[in-house]
Amino acid sequence: MSVLLCPIRVGARHQPQAEALTFAGRSWSYEALDAEVSRWVAALEAEGVGASDRVASLATNHVASVCLFWALGRLGAVLAPLNARLTSAELAPMVEDIQPRLSLALGSLVERLPGARPLESFAEAVSTGASTCQPLEASSPRVVLFTSGTTGRPKGAVLTEGNFRASSRASAANLGAHPAPRWLGTLPLFHVGGIAMLTRTAYEGGCLVLHERFDADAANRAIDGEGVSHASLVATTLERMLDARGDRRMPDSFAWALIGGGPVPVPLLARARAAGLRALQTYGLTEACSQVTTERPDNADGRTAGVPLPGVEVRIVGVGGEVLGAGAEGDIEVRAPTVMAGYWQRPEATHEAVRDGWLRTKDVGVLDGGGRLTVLSRRTDLIVRGGENIYPAEVEAVLLNHPAVQEAAVVGFPDDRWGERPVAFVAPRPGQAHPGEEALAAWCRQSLAGFKTPARFVWVDALPRNAMGKVERTVLRRHALR
Ligand code: ATP
Repeated sequence: MSVLLCPIRVGARHQPQAEALTFAGRSWSYEALDAEVSRWVAALEAEGVGASDRVASLATNHVASVCLFWALGRLGAVLAPLNARLTSAELAPMVEDIQPRLSLALGSLVERLPGARPLESFAEAVSTGASTCQPLEASSPRVVLFTSGTTGRPKGAVLTEGNFRASSRASAANLGAHPAPRWLGTLPLFHVGGIAMLTRTAYEGGCLVLHERFDADAANRAIDGEGVSHASLVATTLERMLDARGDRRMPDSFAWALIGGGPVPVPLLARARAAGLRALQTYGLTEACSQVTTERPDNADGRTAGVPLPGVEVRIVGVGGEVLGAGAEGDIEVRAPTVMAGYWQRPEATHEAVRDGWLRTKDVGVLDGGGRLTVLSRRTDLIVRGGENIYPAEVEAVLLNHPAVQEAAVVGFPDDRWGERPVAFVAPRPGQAHPGEEALAAWCRQSLAGFKTPARFVWVDALPRNAMGKVERTVLRRHALR
């Protein structure tokens, strides 16, 4: 049995004055954050929160969310961070599922979570902290993170302290040692990417430069003026940051940006590198506690999602369950100490997702001879037209190369003859006239086979995106039913 100590307490002992967190113009050393977390422990204990209890939170990024996360760990309790963009009706089944002992919400979000108390002032009345700091078993559940429910009722992925610790270590081993990492915290703390960043920074003894939400100018200011060394971004936020930087070069203090969460256009990574922003493509998912593969800093060209992190195994499996060799396309499976304990109270769904330690990701991909992974599509986003596979990301990359196109998403619409046909939703660049359906189809045909060329183009002002900046394909698919 392996036990882990709260890394904030460890930091408070070994480097009390080192900066642990900055948020909204304030800064906390490890010692100060440790004291703050102890007050939260006392406040939670006063509410009767103990080992294995669940606490639901609904918040955008805030220092209170950081304190809540670490305080629950010291009590052996479990955090269920809910997506702050969901409606009361969408949140209700998740709350029903986890039966929280306590619900906390930030500001006006209290209205969406029945019985929720204000998060920001929860520990306000407590002046003396509690010394409780249980060493955690690596296998103890730490967080329940709900999937977005695109394929039925949302399921809560149970991630353990051991998952987060393993993920932090593997990520650091890939990026190489840094004397004082400062991670830009713009990913939401209700998403695995945000929580992994929080734990990674603490386990490395670094500082989290937390922002309430992503803002391109604020992110650039933090990089230029606050010594940020690392960032986790998705393609859209990287693009917005680059647009806002103009010609400004990246400072030497900036080491690496991880770019993932969805398909990452190769030209975007090339543009980042040309601007001096060292960007690595990464592939990960909630059920594997964020990163699975990441490009190696010494071998990165943005064309693949890189190699499995140290301690992580990736294999490609065919329709009959056979393991495929290099170059063959199939389902991506992952075995690692970062793979979730299971879905919250869903034994069948867990058995379906994890077999013999291998997580079935529901993504389709291919490994090359060097063990580098290319993620081709979500299994559910794959468009099958008359038996031919069309990977939306491949078509989208061609559309994004068109000078008049700002955003593009390709989804499958039902088709009587072919089963499905690809339809492109395209947003023009600001100030650019849209080139017209025929011109875009001709552009696609220059680099794509005819069957991959979208059968229709729909012009939109902007694509619908979720809190992570991911395209909401279900919203686009609903157009097909109109
Ligand atoms: P749900 O909650 O329904 O599972 P989600 O897509 O928001 O949806 P996440 O765990 O947040 O779930 O995201 C993981 C998914 O993001 C992966 O399964 C994969 O489809 C996609 N993804 C992540 N990184 C990459 C990448 N580098 N290239 C292509 N796709 C990626």
